[in-house]
Amino acid sequence: ATVKGDVHDIGKNIVGVVLGCNGYDVVDLGVMVPCDKILHAAREHGAQAIGLSGLITPSLEEMSHVAAEMQRQGFDVPLLIGGATTSRAHTAIKIAPNYQSPVVYVPDASRAVGVVTKLLSIDHAEGFKAEVAADYEKVRAQHANKKGVTLVSLDAARANALPFSGTPVAPKKTGVTVLKDIDLATLAEYIDWGPFFQTWDLAGAYPKILDDKTVGEAARNVFKDGQAMLKQLIAEKWISANAVFGLWPANSIGDDVELYTDESRSTVLATTHHLRQQHERPSGKPHYCLADFVAPKGTPDWTGAFAVTAGLCIEKKLAEFEATHDDYRAIMLKSLADRLAEACAEWLHERVRKEYWGYAADETLTNEQLIREEYQGIRPAPGYPACPDHTEKGTIFTLLDAPANAGMALTEAYAMTPAAAVSGWYFAHPEAQYFAVQKIARDQLEDWAMRKGMSVDEAARWLAPIL
Ligand code: SAH
Repeated sequence: ATVKGDVHDIGKNIVGVVLGCNGYDVVDLGVMVPCDKILHAAREHGAQAIGLSGLITPSLEEMSHVAAEMQRQGFDVPLLIGGATTSRAHTAIKIAPNYQSPVVYVPDASRAVGVVTKLLSIDHAEGFKAEVAADYEKVRAQHANKKGVTLVSLDAARANALPFSGTPVAPKKTGVTVLKDIDLATLAEYIDWGPFFQTWDLAGAYPKILDDKTVGEAARNVFKDGQAMLKQLIAEKWISANAVFGLWPANSIGDDVELYTDESRSTVLATTHHLRQQHERPSGKPHYCLADFVAPKGTPDWTGAFAVTAGLCIEKKLAEFEATHDDYRAIMLKSLADRLAEACAEWLHERVRKEYWGYAADETLTNEQLIREEYQGIRPAPGYPACPDHTEKGTIFTLLDAPANAGMALTEAYAMTPAAAVSGWYFAHPEAQYFAVQKIARDQLEDWAMRKGMSVDEAARWLAPIL
């Protein structure tokens, strides 16, 4: 199952197919599955192992919860953990201690068969379980001994913010703009094929991967099938893509950015709350916060937000594939929709830079240069390292009215639906860059909770990955 609040299932579906091909009966419970439903189904079907998957960081907490419930309800079957944000360390430190029976991290779908086979083998299970338990004990011990990152106080980090400089460029068009039913053939030209191969567990950079000694043949095959399906889905309009974005007058106030309804800057439309780097930085390097890329009050500046999806109406075609048990094509379609959503974000960002905001009207970059992000400005996405808090997507969706304008929604854990979706902020500042808020201290947690209007406990749940 993909856990409650999460909608991403490509990895889980590949695991299902691989296990199925190796003779295992797989009961796939789908996405957004609450703990009780998983455990009920496991009992009903006499499952010999349970697998949990998820992509976004709130799913990590949910997986720990499921493990604790398995313990409480007296389960003893192995628990498998997988998905993009999961890791061996997280599994060992945060999940395994909640459950006395084996908890095993499965780094990619191709390993699932090996892990399950060992766990269920009469001869090898005990040895394998002991090996995993010893390995995770070692991970926990290393973690406990690690000095960890040294943090500076929030005041010190703020005193070392990036000072604002330069003269911001006013957008050609402010307010919300809706672009519906975007031409898929145009978007296809903006696809970054690199991550397509990662989806299929094929390691290597595109296009070199196509000639790779080990995975080249497999890569060529999925690439050929992907290209063929892409052509067909464009010609037959299997899915549709929408985008909505906004550009507003804005100024920073400390680590927050205030967005205003109009140029008088007298009415606040929304306040966005950002996190500041708090780990020790090399001398001369600032403690970055996204708010640093927006001018403080007194200097007119602007900021933007966007939400795009390429997964609208995907269900109809998926249902056709599922009816004929064509898992391969169902997974292929989802992976192409993901690629088109990212391509849509790239395409839209370019139009914003060149036309709607217009601060880079003369830009001419090839798709390779776009993928290498050789343009001015960034589009950080909540949940990624510069803004690891997913709840800011709530502000973005409200500002843009993404449900009405683009047919998009958020789950209770702030996963986006349709799953093939991207959302984020726009910063135009020439020095704007991606960075990582690796870890924060209690002072910033409390400060952020107050600014967000949350209890410190609730804030700590959302920020768990960086505490
Ligand atoms: N061409 C890639 C683009 C996705 S990854 C693809 O097709 O998959 C790059 C995107 O991830 C960026 O545009 C940004 O939205 C996000 N991102 C990357 N690093 C980030 C960081 N440190 N903080 C916030 N967002 C980040």
